[in-house]
Amino acid sequence: MDTEILIVGAGPTGLTLAVDLARRGVAHRVVDHDPGDFAGSRGKGIQPRTLEVFADLGVIDAAFAHGGPYPPMRGYQDGEVAWERVMAPTMPARPDVPYPNPLMLPQWRTTAILRDRLAELGGRVETGVEFQGFSQDDDGVTAVLDGRSVRARYLVGADGGRSGVRKATGVEFVGETYEQHRIQIADVRIDGLDRDHWHMWTNAEGPVLALCPMAGTDTFQLTTTRYDETDLASLVREVSGCTLTDVGWSSQWRANVRMVDRYRVGRVFLAGDAAHVHTPAGGQGLNTGVQDAYNLGWKLALGSEELLDSYEDERLPIAAGVLGISNKLFNRGIGRSEDAMDRSDPVLRQLGLHYRDSKLSVDTRAVAGSLRAGDRAPDGLAGTQRIHDALRGPQFSVLTFGGADYPGGVAVTDAPAYDIDHGYAVVRPDGYLGMIATDPADVRQYLDRF
Ligand SMILES: Cc1cc2nc3c(=O)[nH]c(=O)nc-3n(C[C@H](O)[C@H](O)[C@H](O)COP(=O)(O)OP(=O)(O)OC[C@H]3O[C@@H](n4cnc5c(N)ncnc54)[C@H](O)[C@@H]3O)c2cc1C
Repeated sequence: MDTEILIVGAGPTGLTLAVDLARRGVAHRVVDHDPGDFAGSRGKGIQPRTLEVFADLGVIDAAFAHGGPYPPMRGYQDGEVAWERVMAPTMPARPDVPYPNPLMLPQWRTTAILRDRLAELGGRVETGVEFQGFSQDDDGVTAVLDGRSVRARYLVGADGGRSGVRKATGVEFVGETYEQHRIQIADVRIDGLDRDHWHMWTNAEGPVLALCPMAGTDTFQLTTTRYDETDLASLVREVSGCTLTDVGWSSQWRANVRMVDRYRVGRVFLAGDAAHVHTPAGGQGLNTGVQDAYNLGWKLALGSEELLDSYEDERLPIAAGVLGISNKLFNRGIGRSEDAMDRSDPVLRQLGLHYRDSKLSVDTRAVAGSLRAGDRAPDGLAGTQRIHDALRGPQFSVLTFGGADYPGGVAVTDAPAYDIDHGYAVVRPDGYLGMIATDPADVRQYLDRF
């Protein structure tokens, strides 16, 4: 074998997986056909659950150092301010939820932070390397990179919506392209516009132009329904009266709502946009990719068939749910909060996502509580330590409650979100509750399974 895990694509998904494998000491290679670093602000909303993942991966301080909160939205009609509202109310931190609010972080910054972390852990992205195809057998995968064969135990396609890995597996990308929904998106510099609002201009036909000040930069993310407009400076002047001084990265986007019906084909796995694409409404895409990777990393590291199969079982329903959420928001229209979905919804913040139906989720209590196996492990106190700090790292952890004892267990002292009087919660390496039990023998048996 040339490597254990070959990752194609160094976007947020591939980089998250690479960081997770690097900290576990699992041999891997990550390749990307782009010669340089991604430059666009694209997926700018980091959801609270992803912030928890970032804390575990050791990049949360960098994320907060460069990111910031979403500003209030300000709508203009006929040159006048017509409305102002917040996208979602700012929530206070709670004992069980350390990061309650989304963080705005341009996508180029997120990938830069992950790349830096990978370098700290001794890894690196091989840029300018093109994936061209693969074959697989019982022992591994032979991938073709720039005309040369590379042998790996497993291949992960984290190569975005047009995924060559997905195409090579023959797995279909089922769904629709909405030709009528197109936007142009660009990173621009603007004179004469305050950076305290996300400015949105509409006319009788609907939204025309939005300018969102990007946290940690002097740029705005411009989005316009004038898909084919080549003269963005004239558009900005005509619609807003402001002066556009610079255009950086830009892209045209069509609404594609598609997903795969398989996440695994033998030794090949699909993750992130390679497995699901949807509208940007609700800011879910990058986050779902990061969490695909975080679900897959420890399973690849341990390598049992049961765990590898559980990746699809757990993540496919999540992607289907996300497609529904983002469509719902998109169809209702960004900026029309009177009928929009509640953006403080824990599902949107991805804190309410769970794996309760997974075969890996086991509850041996006689009577289940409101917190179940498969739920995200809430935060709380374990003596002088936060529970999430005690869980940090690539290992399984055992939380103990009400004086129950377990070798190496973490005694929880104050955590209202855990309705466990006496017993144990096994927390998986990705921060979900694998088992809730009252008998330590059940815990031992569960851990032995992996
Ligand atoms: C306008 C817009 C706004 C968005 N806003 C949000 C938001 O607020 N929040 C959010 O969560 N998401 C948002 N998204 C979605 C988000 O940008 C994507 O979900 C995210 O980029 C997916 O990450 P990924 O790593 O899976 O794929 P990508 O970022 O597409 O990365 C794939 C990588 O694979 C490489 N690659 C492709 N083919 C090959 C090959 N053959 N060989 C080698 N390398 C290859 C590419 O160069 C690329 O670097 C938005 C998207 C758009 C378009």
